[in-house]
Amino acid sequence: MRELDLTDDDRLIYEREIAPWLPPRLFDAHSHLMLNRCHPGLPDTMAMANDPLLADVDLSWLEHWWATLLPGIDVRAMVMGFPTVDVLMAEENRIVAEQCGATNHRFAWLVKPSDSLDRLEADIQRYRPSVLKPYMCFVEGMPINDARITDLIPEGQLALADAYGLAVMLHVAKPAGMGDPDNLRDISRLAAEYPNCQFILAHCGRCFITPNAERMVAELPRMDNLWMDTSAVCDSGVFLTVLQHWDRTKILYGSDLVSAVGFRGTYARMGMSWHACTADKVTGGMADRSTFAAYENLAALCFAMRFLGLGPSEREAIFCTNAERLFGSIDVARR
Ligand SMILES: [Zn+2]
Repeated sequence: MRELDLTDDDRLIYEREIAPWLPPRLFDAHSHLMLNRCHPGLPDTMAMANDPLLADVDLSWLEHWWATLLPGIDVRAMVMGFPTVDVLMAEENRIVAEQCGATNHRFAWLVKPSDSLDRLEADIQRYRPSVLKPYMCFVEGMPINDARITDLIPEGQLALADAYGLAVMLHVAKPAGMGDPDNLRDISRLAAEYPNCQFILAHCGRCFITPNAERMVAELPRMDNLWMDTSAVCDSGVFLTVLQHWDRTKILYGSDLVSAVGFRGTYARMGMSWHACTADKVTGGMADRSTFAAYENLAALCFAMRFLGLGPSEREAIFCTNAERLFGSIDVARR
């Protein structure tokens, strides 16, 4: 039996910096299952897979994390498989659909650029996901960080999402993420051409550092079908920028639990890049005061919200009701 324990510092951070700003009900718009049997190469491709708390995440273990990190909060979520190069995608998608389809959670369907449209449409009709989830590691024939949005998800797949009124969870490539001019140009065009497809820009448009977020908000349009989630970003400068200069009614709280933020450490700025910095990399005896990256993310977001004076209804919107509005508009029962 694996035990997830909180330290005194974890509790202090939660009680002082996070809990006072949370509503009683929360929608986690970005979370993952990761079944080890669907990732045969995982111990080699992801060091965190060797941590029993972070690996082999089924829905009940994900729910245990929410209950431990967010005690007393009622959590609904959008749940995805975990995109790795070696993922047995059909199997993990089916397990996610089976575990989440019987609950009031929503779920996503992992897609590769090479997936056939006939197969994908049949899966949409059979399993009824709310979201399609492409990812950089599935791009072939180019350095993955050069990929444009339509290299991650071809327009045929976007047209299917549009026809079925689904969302697409985009983890955009390029060193500046959504601050990149190609990505900004592409998202403006695609959101206009596929108006029934709801585009969610994961990780604040994958802007983990403030200068990239500033470049993004300078040009990112406000559109009905364009959303952003807050997952994994641990830099309050990014949240201050986005909350101040973009559309607060389209921002969704997301955790990225479990494997990507359940470690002790943070996503740290390193000049013009950023890296997962785990507690075991820190020398000098201070690492044992570290907390979960999931708490670093929430503390940074809550700091930005209170610094900018967001009231209870605006905080509730970001933590819950914006996502309820989005996912409530995706009618999976209609198919
Ligand atoms: Zn994620």
